[in-house]
Amino acid sequence: MAISLPRNKWRRSSATVNQYHILAFDPGGTTGWAHLLLDYKAFSRPETKALSWLDSWHCGEITGSELDKLDKCAALIWGFHFPNEFNSRLDVVSEGFDLKQLIGSQANLLSPVRINAVINWECRKQGLELHIQDRSARSAQTPARLNAFGFTGKWSPNGTGKDAFAALQHAVTWLRRVKEKSKSQPWKLSDGVGRYWDCACYEGELCDLNHPK
Ligand SMILES: [Zn+2]
Repeated sequence: MAISLPRNKWRRSSATVNQYHILAFDPGGTTGWAHLLLDYKAFSRPETKALSWLDSWHCGEITGSELDKLDKCAALIWGFHFPNEFNSRLDVVSEGFDLKQLIGSQANLLSPVRINAVINWECRKQGLELHIQDRSARSAQTPARLNAFGFTGKWSPNGTGKDAFAALQHAVTWLRRVKEKSKSQPWKLSDGVGRYWDCACYEGELCDLNHPK
């Protein structure tokens, strides 16, 4: 039976410790966005499958005037970063502009550039770094692959929802990068007070994880 990962709109009221957010954008005339929410456990041990610790995912598209779109992008970043008085761990990703992308009208030809500039500025104001990903980086996340992972949907690179799809591709690409990096640099878990390694030495036994002392 095919798995289906939970597609949900995350509520700020459900924020807890050990939540990691990925917010990815595909900037343009229609701006796609995708949100992944994972437990830190996805990255605390190298053998763990990241997607088995995915709490929820969601994606969508923002239309309207460019300034309205920018308001909504900024609100998404803020909402995931500051669910309450504490900030959460959030990575923001967007697709870099490729000069070969000469599609669209004169007016919105460069809108991805403008949108990325504002997202970058918004991230900086919030103490975040915007990660720009190449358009080509996402191509491995095909519709069939996303469905096989459990991101169930009718994904199409050209039809309706193509911008949400592109954003989801970027989010999943970023997740895979973070997971790969965590294999040699595992994440600590938090109990709300302190932080600890996800290993047996936390229980006073012989350590079974390769981590700094
Ligand atoms: Zn240990």
